[in-house]
Amino acid sequence: MQSSVITRAMTSDGSARIICADTTAIVQKAFEVHRTAKTMTAALGRSLTVTSLMGSLLKDKTDTLSLQIKGDGPAGTILCVSNYRGDVRGYAENPDAELPPNEHGKLDVGGAVGQGTLCIIRDFGTGEPYVGISQLVSGEIAEDISEYFVTSEQTPTVCALGVRANTDNSCKSAGGFLLQLLPGADDSIIPTLEKNIASLGSVSKLIEVGKTPEDIIAMVLEGIEYDLFDSYEIEYQCSCDRDKYLRALISLNQADMDELAETGEPIETECRFCHTKYVFEIDEILKARNG
Ligand SMILES: [Zn+2]
Repeated sequence: MQSSVITRAMTSDGSARIICADTTAIVQKAFEVHRTAKTMTAALGRSLTVTSLMGSLLKDKTDTLSLQIKGDGPAGTILCVSNYRGDVRGYAENPDAELPPNEHGKLDVGGAVGQGTLCIIRDFGTGEPYVGISQLVSGEIAEDISEYFVTSEQTPTVCALGVRANTDNSCKSAGGFLLQLLPGADDSIIPTLEKNIASLGSVSKLIEVGKTPEDIIAMVLEGIEYDLFDSYEIEYQCSCDRDKYLRALISLNQADMDELAETGEPIETECRFCHTKYVFEIDEILKARNG
């Protein structure tokens, strides 16, 4: 399978920017890691896609962006994390949640997510992350993100996200875009943008038939002068390592540590993003604690 790709562009007058990604490979990897049910391939896939799009707007190499969707539906909490490039990882509390198709015959992502809140956390490594929260509108995620940008960041944003699943629940195609009006935007481009977006159709369908993010940007910005900013490969990427888990175990309080030591059993931890297991002997933890 081809790599996932993210492409960014801006109108020549600086009125609007667009970030578009083909995330098929990323969503397929998430399916392989979490063995998602069909509706959850879509729910987690859309979440990963928009987290990557937003992450690519971070400024510094050490910045991270997290998307947390806390709904009351069968999916449970969905958590995704992106680095500044748009490399992303994520999980859903219940990857096997499945629902019948909705009244439009589509995967019922809104039903799986339910009602609740959407939270965006930008961590700049300063110990004081920027946190924005909004209410979920439909649980379909793209709509919820547009609402988030309007209410929490006062940035008019069109968000489109789509995932098509195969009969075995794997990912056939996935992608999306964020289109944002920037401060001081020339309003005269809005009718053109609206017309282009209305005739676009679904992003996952466009990707399925072979359109690239660059092609989709050209369709959204048709009739408007723009400059392509950059285009690069992104991937499903977990940053966990054994040391991180060892440090967490070292920092346990004495009472918890005593309790673990008493059993004498090795301690097994598992990463929720990639399911890698790390096993620690009690002696190793005690040694690291005292050393
Ligand atoms: Zn991991």
